[in-house]
Amino acid sequence: MENCIFCKIAAGEIPSAKVYEDEDMIAFRDIAPQAKVHVLVVPKSHFATLAEMDAAQAELVKKCLVKIPAIAEGLGLANGYRLIVNQGRDAGQTVHHLHIHILGGQDMGEKML
Ligand code: 5GP
Ligand code: ZN
Repeated sequence: MENCIFCKIAAGEIPSAKVYEDEDMIAFRDIAPQAKVHVLVVPKSHFATLAEMDAAQAELVKKCLVKIPAIAEGLGLANGYRLIVNQGRDAGQTVHHLHIHILGGQDMGEKML
């Protein structure tokens, strides 16, 4: 997808602080971290939201979810972490390529907002 920053990162055209990569996904540190550890897990197929996802893309999201515990372990998040997937305007989604935020490295508290 042209002009998609996460497609460009996935293609290696824009540098990122990569923590994991395979043929299906890339995980890299958020450029503006909102927790001590803030990593984005991005399937290497362009779609903006779960509502736009096809069956093959759903398989990629499943692979991301299966891989996240190992990524989190590599990030030292043994005490836990929070996952966020912003969907659309009211959620504040700014990059319209589906991604899963991993937030942790600190006590996140019991409230989500
Ligand atoms: P959203 O608000 O769409 O759920 O999250 C997008 C995230 O992407 C934001 O947390 C933002 O800081 C991050 N981001 C935007 N552009 C870049 C970039 O070029 N590199 C990295 N590493 N993160 C980015
Ligand atoms: Zn994209």
